[in-house]
Amino acid sequence: MVTLKDPTLLRSACLIDGEWVGSTGRPIQVADPATGHTVGQVPDLGATEAEAAIAAAARALPAWSARTARDRGAILRRWFDLAVANADDLAALMTAEQGKPLAEARGEVLYAASFLEWFAEEARRIYGETIPAPTADKRLLVIRQPVGVCAAITPWNFPAAMITRKAAPALAAGCTMIVKPAEQTPLTALALAALAERAGVPSGVFQVVTGDARAIGGALTASDVVRKLSFTGSTEVGRILMAQCAPTIKKLSLELGGNAPFIVFDDADLDAAIEGALVSKYRNAGQTCVCANRLYVQSGIHDAFASRLAEAVRTIKLGPGTEPGVTIGPLIDADAIRKVESHVADALAHGATLVAGGRQPPLGGNFYEPTILTGVTQAMKVAREETFGPVAPLFRFETEEEAVAMANDTEFGLAAYFYTENARRVWRVAEALEYGMVGHNTGLISTEVAPFGGIKQSGLGREGSRHGIEDYLEIKYLCSAVG
Ligand code: ADP
Repeated sequence: MVTLKDPTLLRSACLIDGEWVGSTGRPIQVADPATGHTVGQVPDLGATEAEAAIAAAARALPAWSARTARDRGAILRRWFDLAVANADDLAALMTAEQGKPLAEARGEVLYAASFLEWFAEEARRIYGETIPAPTADKRLLVIRQPVGVCAAITPWNFPAAMITRKAAPALAAGCTMIVKPAEQTPLTALALAALAERAGVPSGVFQVVTGDARAIGGALTASDVVRKLSFTGSTEVGRILMAQCAPTIKKLSLELGGNAPFIVFDDADLDAAIEGALVSKYRNAGQTCVCANRLYVQSGIHDAFASRLAEAVRTIKLGPGTEPGVTIGPLIDADAIRKVESHVADALAHGATLVAGGRQPPLGGNFYEPTILTGVTQAMKVAREETFGPVAPLFRFETEEEAVAMANDTEFGLAAYFYTENARRVWRVAEALEYGMVGHNTGLISTEVAPFGGIKQSGLGREGSRHGIEDYLEIKYLCSAVG
């Protein structure tokens, strides 16, 4: 059970073409990962409803894109105000279905809202350009126009922010958007849709369809009306969706897996590195795509870092996100626990040492203790795959070249972190790391004002910042003969 100040934000229907559409068949139960109890239910919709949403989005597009940027911005700004005003309820819903501690959930709601505010402002800065013509009788212009109907498929680890980071630039640019949220966390998405409606987002401009991921994803990707897909999730599913988008040559934004390295050099500020490792590793129970997945620590500081980190994780309080003082909630589901267990078992079988955690506490639900492993090598699963759990594997290294080579030895390229007090090294390492985002002396890099995204198999495109709206705009070149 989740108690809200405004109970109407707990929805069990989807928003399609301005109507709240319920389930025709059996609804999907949404479970609290801390207890397994049912929090709510949402419709089990499929291709038919997705197609209805696509048609509605296409009908809504001409009027929405014809409105002034100022008008669209004003509506997004109202949506922002409503998200902030209802932050407690959105956070309560999020903790109930996702598990993260309430304070962290509230933090995500404000982070999610920040995209609405940012792109409400960016709507008015979709500038064009003029180009000096090669001949006297021509005038050359560039205008930027909305891509059209867009689809978004979002994950469960950031149930609100992954939606607004896509929907806000889409709507600001004049596109319409259909969202298929993750099956684990649809309630936050539906509450956001209720607030969008209240803010004055017109019918068909922002829609949410819950249900069968393959069927809905299949309809969204097959449609030639949908001109763009923005997906955040696993590299595996990203690959499938990219292939499904190939026949219609859709534009794609993909924010996929991470496997972030976190490098601590001998000359690092140890206190700062420990603090950064804690937030980067254990935030959201290690379930973020920018979470430190591999901690490379130079020989001279390795043992001090390991013992200080072990001390620090003892202060972490594990429990249901609704309990005061809890800093880590449960993992999302039993599959997540199995993956963490298999990574820890594989590391131990290949010679790693368990310094902390390494088991489920007797709390029931999907909890896993904050874990530290030392003596980890590149051959182990924790080095190659994203663990997506509260496990910190420590690798010892000797030289900068070795650390950078190990850090880059992965098909992923989303976020990387390093700690050093040496200014020359800052530039050397920052430029050598093959990642879309690099944190120096910080474990927290996400903000709506900066471009979020990866290189290599971590994805395509950027979200947030002034670049984030580009993904929702087409460039049109106009050549006018005036002579
Ligand atoms: P995770 O491993 O984090 O759950 P996924 O990539 O499996 O990440 O899921 C992210 C999103 O992709 C979710 O909304 C999920 O429902 C959706 N999804 C998963 N498989 C498919 C698919 N075959 N087609 C469309 N959407 C999918």
